[in-house]
Amino acid sequence: MPTPAYRNAEYQTVHANLFKDSITAPLKAVLPPGVTRYAFDAAVMQYMVIVGHDQVLQGDALEEYIDPYELYEAEGKRKMPSAAVRPKNIEELRRVLNISNEYNIPVWTFSRGKNLGYGGPAPRVNGCIALDLHRMNKILEVNAEYSYAVVEPGVTFTELYDYCVEHKLKVWPSVPSLGWGSVVGNTLDRGTGFTPTATHHQHICGVEAMLANGELVRTGQFAVSGSPSSHLSKFTFGPSIEGLFLQSNLGIVTKMGIWLTPAPQAFMSCSFDMPDFEDVETIVDVFGPLRRDGLLPNTVYVSNLVEWLGMMGKREELWPESGPIPEWRLKELQKQLDIGYWNAKFGLYGARDVIQAHFEELKKIVALKAPKGRLTGDIFSAPDGETLDPASVPDPHGGFFVGMPSLWSLPMVKFRLPKDGGGIGAHYDYSPIIPSSGATVLEWVKTAKSICEAESFDLFCDFFMHERHVIFVNMMTFDKTNLAHRQAVETIFANLFEEGRKRGYSKYRSHINTMDLVAGLYDFNDHAYRRFVETIKDAVDPNGILSPGKQGIWPKRFRENEKFKAHL
Ligand SMILES: Cc1cc2nc3c(=O)[nH]c(=O)nc-3n(C[C@H](O)[C@H](O)[C@H](O)COP(=O)(O)OP(=O)(O)OC[C@H]3O[C@@H](n4cnc5c(N)ncnc54)[C@H](O)[C@@H]3O)c2cc1C
Repeated sequence: MPTPAYRNAEYQTVHANLFKDSITAPLKAVLPPGVTRYAFDAAVMQYMVIVGHDQVLQGDALEEYIDPYELYEAEGKRKMPSAAVRPKNIEELRRVLNISNEYNIPVWTFSRGKNLGYGGPAPRVNGCIALDLHRMNKILEVNAEYSYAVVEPGVTFTELYDYCVEHKLKVWPSVPSLGWGSVVGNTLDRGTGFTPTATHHQHICGVEAMLANGELVRTGQFAVSGSPSSHLSKFTFGPSIEGLFLQSNLGIVTKMGIWLTPAPQAFMSCSFDMPDFEDVETIVDVFGPLRRDGLLPNTVYVSNLVEWLGMMGKREELWPESGPIPEWRLKELQKQLDIGYWNAKFGLYGARDVIQAHFEELKKIVALKAPKGRLTGDIFSAPDGETLDPASVPDPHGGFFVGMPSLWSLPMVKFRLPKDGGGIGAHYDYSPIIPSSGATVLEWVKTAKSICEAESFDLFCDFFMHERHVIFVNMMTFDKTNLAHRQAVETIFANLFEEGRKRGYSKYRSHINTMDLVAGLYDFNDHAYRRFVETIKDAVDPNGILSPGKQGIWPKRFRENEKFKAHL
């Protein structure tokens, strides 16, 4: 039996059930592209010698290495690894790559594989080895004085939080709405949380990565032997290369320094809602400038009414028909719940009197520019000279806004399941990067709403307000056993993508199945960006063994050899 993925019993149960319950067709064994059964078996024996027999998985044991939300799994389009290999340290990882180079077996790297909605642990290319790094799980350092952590890939957000609590460290790590993912994996895929360091990749400081030939490189001051500033400064001497390892197949990140929020004296839980669909324009035009001028230094998270309903239960309990929930019913539900059509949530963090002053200023601006909206601010504070314990902030104010990890948002994917039981909950999304302008966002939500409703889906969305842009997330929760749902999701995605393309919008992150499509948008000067990255790829990974096709970057042998196309 392979060792469990999680020590946390709740996470392990939910993890095992997530995969087990999502399988609609038996797993079928596949081989790596261009590799014979004989060579593959020989390589597997060698992987076993390196990591141990029980850390190489094949056959039915691969059920935890598929995409639990795969759209056309029942039709035989599942993306499958040929085996999973789980090294526990740098030396094992290096030897695994040596074998992969020797046999030309590509690996698909992930840290916790919880990239749900984007493929989970499943490879872009059928037959890759699932290179599962969850056993490389050391928290190497948490420095409370400078507020940073250095972690290995397998460390989850929950483990980092628990470590800080256990060691009484006065730092607040950021956490996404699910705490079981990897700090490294989420950050490399440009994931986000909710606290002041929510835009995780902007807080990376000092990375160590293994190249395809087993060599380790470090970035920034981390590359200076004995530097006391390894995780304190993003300055470097020459080109900054950290970005080469984000959403990338140029190396495998083995250590990451990441900045945390120093525990503040006080936290204010703020919310602002507006009742009507068109009010999104006002919200963006009032809050956008405040994000830029620093009155609101942290991400503002805005969700629509339907997303809110998605957290309350199944859709059929709210509206029995299969078409979109009509306006009158939405208004009725909105009134019952006493929320807005748009609901903004954000936190203020720091010295009590300073954040109170920010809030007073915000109140004045909102009263003048958005009088129709409702603003609330609940402050939680430690005495002067002390810092706030995030666990002391009660529901519904704390949670991920104070960095407390949980699996809070997971039930959302069950929204479209039949109320009497059955079905498999899943989700997919289209998440464009849009300028932070009210008129532009309003125009987009109108477009997105009509695209969703044409397929009998509701507009289920949220957006994250950054200083100059918003990341808009059109969510499509669906029942994976329902063919009509699957077809609708595919059509909605294609139509949103096309409308986004016409407006020059790209996605901030992508499912493995749409990586080439998104990469194709970066077309300036006949795709000079792609050609530049491919040039680096061919130089540092000549056998093309690291995550082929990730983010639309293909190694030379895949670009030039038609026989590999069958595996895509
Ligand atoms: C209900 C729900 C809510 C969600 N909420 C959020 C949210 O609030 N914020 C958010 O960001 N996401 C959210 N997600 C998406 C996703 O679940 C998280 O982003 C999750 O943290 C990603 O999985 P992971 O951390 O295990 O990363 P992994 O799956 O381990 O990694 C992600 C990708 O990064 C690359 N990678 C990973 N490790 C390495 C490495 N060591 N070297 C090189 N490349 C590597 C791989 O390509 C991998 O596919 C949500 C999903 C669902 C279903």
